[in-house]
Amino acid sequence: MDESRQKYVPHTLTTQEYYRQITRLKKEKNAVILSHYYMIPEIQLLIYEGGIADFLGDSLGLSLEATKVEQQNIVFCGVNFMAETAKILSPTKNVYIPDKLAGCSLASSITKEDVRNLRKQYPGVPVIAYVNTYAETKAECDVCCTSRNALSIAKSFKEDTLIFLPDKFMGENLRRRIYAETGKKLILWNGTCEVHEQFKSDSFTSLKAEHPDAKMLLHWEVPEQTVQENISEMGGILGSTNDIINYVSQSKDQTFILASECDLGSTLKRMFTGKEFITPCVKCSYMKMITLDSILRTLQSIGTAEERFYEIALESNIIKAASIPVKRMLQYN
Ligand code: SF4
Repeated sequence: MDESRQKYVPHTLTTQEYYRQITRLKKEKNAVILSHYYMIPEIQLLIYEGGIADFLGDSLGLSLEATKVEQQNIVFCGVNFMAETAKILSPTKNVYIPDKLAGCSLASSITKEDVRNLRKQYPGVPVIAYVNTYAETKAECDVCCTSRNALSIAKSFKEDTLIFLPDKFMGENLRRRIYAETGKKLILWNGTCEVHEQFKSDSFTSLKAEHPDAKMLLHWEVPEQTVQENISEMGGILGSTNDIINYVSQSKDQTFILASECDLGSTLKRMFTGKEFITPCVKCSYMKMITLDSILRTLQSIGTAEERFYEIALESNIIKAASIPVKRMLQYN
């Protein structure tokens, strides 16, 4: 058992009873709930829809919301690197994550020592870190990026070779575009998202046969071969979560095949009620560690000795060093 995690017997409440207690505690504890698009539908439901989330968004969008909220306490319903980013951008706030074991295969694929070794191997080559990295890794990099602004950030460097880490599939997708547009070369790390890497070229064969008019919605982290084969056959978009949402909002098409985390499909169904979204449904096990029960525990802990099990604690020197590449990234939004 990880000592950073509280041992407890879960409550067994109905969803409405969780909502009632969470809503009451949010007010009592001066807290706000930020929900990532990959949370289960019961968590990502916004207050005006009858749920508990104050904001719903992607990792960067939520971290930016965290800088604007009045509340002192932020409960970040996502994974650790996201909550760390919120802490980096709002160091005077208390940021909590309902389960500290909510990791990420991409973020844990690279350490600060790996970045230092890359710099030795490729002296003078700028390092761009996808935001899906831990704070200590970010602190070693020149600039961070999200799937929303990776392309414009990579294009902004004058150097003709760049290091992009840690996602090799996103790097390969970017590399093709960047090389075509600027001639720049990317050196890649070997990390992968264990959700998006599962979308292979043939993952959609039966769905495409059943829905021949569907358009493909593919996240940047999906393998390049899957992207190439499916986009050229069906049309659609390769992009960030926000790009996918914007594409659907502007599209006259009715049916879409989603190659991203399964619960983004729930988000899209709620946002675009007349449209159909089909997905092979691959879930991120880290994101699913966040439950209504762990959110309730987190809120109950605020202001007590138990809050250490949930609060994001980063050393001030790490916050200072990591805030440089993170703030550079914000210039490209
Ligand atoms: S979906 Fe992939 S990138 Fe996102 S948290 Fe899960 S493992 Fe990490």
